[in-house]
Amino acid sequence: MLNIRSFNLGPLQTNAYLLTGADPAKGIIIDPGMNPAALVRSIEGMEIEAILLTHAHFDHMGGVDEIRKLKKCPVYLHALESEWLTSAKLNGSLLWPDVAPPLTTDPAEYDLAEGQVLKLIGHTFRVFHTPGHSPGSVSFLCGDDLFSGDVLFKLGVGRTDLPGGRERDLFDSLRGKLYKLDEGVKVYPGHGSRTTIGFERVRNPYVTM
Ligand SMILES: [Zn+2]
Ligand SMILES: [Zn+2]
Repeated sequence: MLNIRSFNLGPLQTNAYLLTGADPAKGIIIDPGMNPAALVRSIEGMEIEAILLTHAHFDHMGGVDEIRKLKKCPVYLHALESEWLTSAKLNGSLLWPDVAPPLTTDPAEYDLAEGQVLKLIGHTFRVFHTPGHSPGSVSFLCGDDLFSGDVLFKLGVGRTDLPGGRERDLFDSLRGKLYKLDEGVKVYPGHGSRTTIGFERVRNPYVTM
């Protein structure tokens, strides 16, 4: 069974997720955001097998540098955003100087792509390429748990007016992929509280099935 802890990090209240399986000493992190001190404290003594990024906006990658150096763990990111970790312009941190300093880190060790299956912490994670909010946005499905980044929120969706965003892609990602999952799938978004596919399919004010 997958154990999920969430951390609300940084000025944009980004959700970072720390996941563990049967062995509580081994974990993975999805989206280590800015100011990750609370998360860093929680992984003391743990082995971190990987950092998975739903996309490379600064509020999701702000903690990558610190945790990667500390744990020597590889980072996974969709190929369409492979330049974004090294560019404060592309990851958006240059655009909001009052919110974030310019943030950069080394490129990701591994590319992600649609349909890829990752075996980590004794679990299987399926990768869905879900662009719209950003070109390389992905969602991760593990059993009945979906990590949707900034694509799908509780009663909301990600903005599509940032560089590389596209409303048509967002609709296709939701109707063509995420809304086709079982209604009971729990959704852990990049911001805000948890929801389910069944709830959003019917109640989401921006995109319903
Ligand atoms: Zn974003
Ligand atoms: Zn975000």
